[in-house]
Amino acid sequence: MKRMKIKWKIMLCFTAMFVLIIAASVPIRYTIISNNLYINAKYLLQSEAERVADIIVYSDGRVRLDRDVNLIATGTYIAVYSNDSVLRSGELPEDFDLNVKPQFGNIYTENSNGHKWIIYDYKLFRNSENVGWLRAVRSLDATSEILKNFKSSILKIIPIYIVIAFLGLVFIRRTLSPVVEITKTAKQISQGNLTKRLNLDIPRDELGTLAETLDEMLDRLEYSFNREKRFSSDVSHELRTPITAIILSAEEALGGDKTSSEYKESLSSILKEGRRVSALISQLLMMARSYDGEYVPEKEAIDISLLTKTIVDELSEGSKSAQISISSVIEEGIIMDVEQTLFMRLLINLIDNAIKYNIPGGWVKVSLRKTPDIVVLSVEDSGIGISKDDLPKIWDRFFKVDQSSINASPGLGLPIVKWIAQLHGGTVHVTSVLDKGSLFEIRFKTKYHK
Ligand code: ADP
Repeated sequence: MKRMKIKWKIMLCFTAMFVLIIAASVPIRYTIISNNLYINAKYLLQSEAERVADIIVYSDGRVRLDRDVNLIATGTYIAVYSNDSVLRSGELPEDFDLNVKPQFGNIYTENSNGHKWIIYDYKLFRNSENVGWLRAVRSLDATSEILKNFKSSILKIIPIYIVIAFLGLVFIRRTLSPVVEITKTAKQISQGNLTKRLNLDIPRDELGTLAETLDEMLDRLEYSFNREKRFSSDVSHELRTPITAIILSAEEALGGDKTSSEYKESLSSILKEGRRVSALISQLLMMARSYDGEYVPEKEAIDISLLTKTIVDELSEGSKSAQISISSVIEEGIIMDVEQTLFMRLLINLIDNAIKYNIPGGWVKVSLRKTPDIVVLSVEDSGIGISKDDLPKIWDRFFKVDQSSINASPGLGLPIVKWIAQLHGGTVHVTSVLDKGSLFEIRFKTKYHK
């Protein structure tokens, strides 16, 4: 049963139900019909016998039927007997056995000469004196015939059922054909071809919806599979550059006698690249956490006004060497539930970018304010700006406008900003004009402490 195909299971179920209905209904209907027919014959027999008994003729000490009484046409035969069972008048059917003993007051059946009869024997009285008896007889052959026909009509249904079952099988086969298609395609997909889709052109019933859902699932699978593939190659690419630089610097230092300043130069280059690898690894670790959709930040109520001010102050020091001035407009006392290290990372990434992608003599403005519903953090710069085409891509991992720049950071800063913003109920927005500057805005819809 477990290995049986669904279409056969449905057919079996269908047949079992049909047989059960027939098996239960046929005997019931048979009994009802035969009872009705018997009751009808009994009623006719009794009413006609009693009607005749009322108009019986008694003359010369003998009982007999009135000459006008003839019930044969209605199917009832009547015979009148004397007390000593001598037939006085009337007639009984030819095949009826005349030796059947009377059973007075009873309606009963008898089989004789291949026929079935229903019989009613009735005592006749005149002035309270028993003057003889009357026998009424009807044939039950018609009743038996009707019942026989009923039985054979049931048997006649069987070929009709076989035809219906066959049509049912064809219908079930057609209905389940998408399942075969789905299985076939699923097998091809399991062989590593994630681009394959079911694309079934079928009505949107349960199977249609299933096929559509599977296609959607395959879209998502293909997307994340490709993303993983790209991520691995991007990571290797990003790591290769600083590691190659470290190896080159070390080989350079080890190749022949060097002055101490040359050794220092090699070591500081190794240190710089080592720091780059270390920064990249921490960013990758953070990215890995963002993949785990179930990461729950350890939030606590923090004065983010103070935190933002501290970060701005710290980064202002470094920006001086790049000839960038940082100013800030920070509304005081905004307290929000945040994970401090993540919130700091978000601020640093945004302000860092505003400095990195700026022009000498440029400026950066950081602002933090609140409205009755949201807290808005914005970082604006007078930098190189981002083209319209690149703008939607900047939130993708490893995206860099200038792919050739070897010293550029790996392109993980903004995806991390977006992830942290979302973890804190925030949305990211950016407007930018090429060669003019950019404005990054994070709108936190979370409740802040008043
Ligand atoms: P990266 O590590 O390269 O800074 P990000 O994810 O932080 O990566 O940024 C992705 C790209 O978006 C950057 O390479 C840069 O081209 C562009 N970008 C980000 N911030 C700015 C900005 N303030 N001004 C101009 N371009 C920016």
